[in-house]
Amino acid sequence: MSSDRAKLLSSALRRLADRPTTIMEVCGTHTVSIFRQGLRSLFPENLKLISGPGCPVCVTSQGEIDGAIELATRKNVVMATYGDMMRVPGSNGTLGELRGSGSDVRVVLSAMETLRMAEEMPHKEIVFLAVGFETTAPATAALLIEARKKNLDNLSALCLHKRVPPALRALSETDGNRVDGFLLPGHVAVILGHEPFKFIPERYGIACTIAGFEADEIMLALVDLLEQIGKNRPSLTSRYDKAVRPEGNVKAVDLMNRVFNTSTSTWRGIGPIDESGMSIKEEYSLWDGSRKFDVAVRNMPEPKGCRCGEILSGTITPKECPLFGTGCTPITPVGPCMVSSEGTCSAWYRYGRKGDLKWES
Ligand code: SF4
Repeated sequence: MSSDRAKLLSSALRRLADRPTTIMEVCGTHTVSIFRQGLRSLFPENLKLISGPGCPVCVTSQGEIDGAIELATRKNVVMATYGDMMRVPGSNGTLGELRGSGSDVRVVLSAMETLRMAEEMPHKEIVFLAVGFETTAPATAALLIEARKKNLDNLSALCLHKRVPPALRALSETDGNRVDGFLLPGHVAVILGHEPFKFIPERYGIACTIAGFEADEIMLALVDLLEQIGKNRPSLTSRYDKAVRPEGNVKAVDLMNRVFNTSTSTWRGIGPIDESGMSIKEEYSLWDGSRKFDVAVRNMPEPKGCRCGEILSGTITPKECPLFGTGCTPITPVGPCMVSSEGTCSAWYRYGRKGDLKWES
């Protein structure tokens, strides 16, 4: 973004922010983008941005991590997952530490890599630890469809996928919700399109704009939100038309619908949310790691002192956690918000101390 454009958009924000306004950037990539591009220095005093539950690693509950770690210790199991999951602390360590003590835990860049692993190791049970939102779930669905086609019975997925719209519904219904607008996650909207978000302004009167990740896309989306709020006309707008079609990615949604049912899922620090999870349908039950290995997911408390739950619901900022930057750093993370590159605490730690940023109180 040129400095002229930055000045223009910044002055538009200043003009529109005529009252204290709180916007939640739902997506962790937005959190990082806003910090990395130094956008906070362009925001008016009245505009406060808080982070939401949009980091897939962060919202995976402690009980889910514990279930995955227990499964990975079983004989003959090879667990494969995305890199960030290796460092998320469970009650008794991480998947990375488990690998160090001899369990076969592997990092993959795509779900489909596990198909090859299953073919190459027919005497092993390959379990894909499937995490993430509607952005990664279609790839898991495609994997299971392919495994079923090939009749690969030594491959399964431990499905921990979560759905974003029900989480936004839960946040909107939270007593004392202080969010005036949602900066909606562009990546999820690429898959879902506009329709699944329309209920937010219609039912809860909260302004919504789908945003891209470039500086001017984020600034324009904020201008949209402040205009909606100023006119008291909440609606759903999009500032990411280059990637988001109103109908979304129909093929990807079809893949998800073929393989998953919606189910209740527990979000770290937030708790169970109806319809916010994806469970594997009966016809794919042979490839459902949870059923195949009878994995128990228990309700587990947060690590002592960790306030990730409040971070993920936008109730506090990282510096209000007493462990931030002392007991908890990216090298020694206590909670998942410090582990993931998209985690709010990690973003605050890495970028929040630059001179051009305002620290919120
Ligand atoms: S600073 Fe660490 S312990 Fe505190 S909320 Fe963030 S991740 Fe959890």
